[in-house]
Amino acid sequence: MKQMINHHLTPELMMAYSAGTLPEAFALVVATHVSMCDGCRAEIDSFDAVGGCMVEDARAAALSVDSLEATMRLIAQGPATTKQMPRLSSGTLPSPLQDYVGGDLDAIKWRSIGMGVKQAILPTSSDATARLLYIPAGSAVPDHGHRGTELTLVLQGAFSDDEDRFARGDVEVANEDLQHTPVADIGMDCICLAATDAPLKFNAFIPRLAQRFLRI
Ligand SMILES: [Zn+2]
Repeated sequence: MKQMINHHLTPELMMAYSAGTLPEAFALVVATHVSMCDGCRAEIDSFDAVGGCMVEDARAAALSVDSLEATMRLIAQGPATTKQMPRLSSGTLPSPLQDYVGGDLDAIKWRSIGMGVKQAILPTSSDATARLLYIPAGSAVPDHGHRGTELTLVLQGAFSDDEDRFARGDVEVANEDLQHTPVADIGMDCICLAATDAPLKFNAFIPRLAQRFLRI
């Protein structure tokens, strides 16, 4: 089933993904969106082609004598390690995420962060944090701002904030100038993948007190 995706990755994110310079948490959001979005997949393919041209044009640097032999040996031994473009899998979680969670939704170990909202932090490199967020139907995530960039990708249900409405496959790219209170649609609990490279700025005192412990 194809869904209508209205909110896509920025060119900057796709370029950085293609160049391999994104923190792991952000790369996971990009890969997961791309598994659901043919348009962004095609754009990243074209960025990859540009990168390939640059590699071909680069002047060859001499490698040590045995490196060709060593490489051929690795190829003979191991599975292919070329970057795979993720494809949509069955289940709620697309395949790049299922690899992190070790299964689909029922494999997630949720922790309550209050008011019915739950999270599960995913194991990525420490330069950014990736988390799954569970927002019960009709509930809100406390009003917050951002110190860095926050990417939010909807996996189930939908949420709305001051900017727009985001449904499955949509990505919201929030940065320092966005202040928002995401509210889940009434009809279905909302599950999102979110990545942040700096702590959020909560306006109410209690979330501010709690965020140190919750790493949000
Ligand atoms: Zn897209």
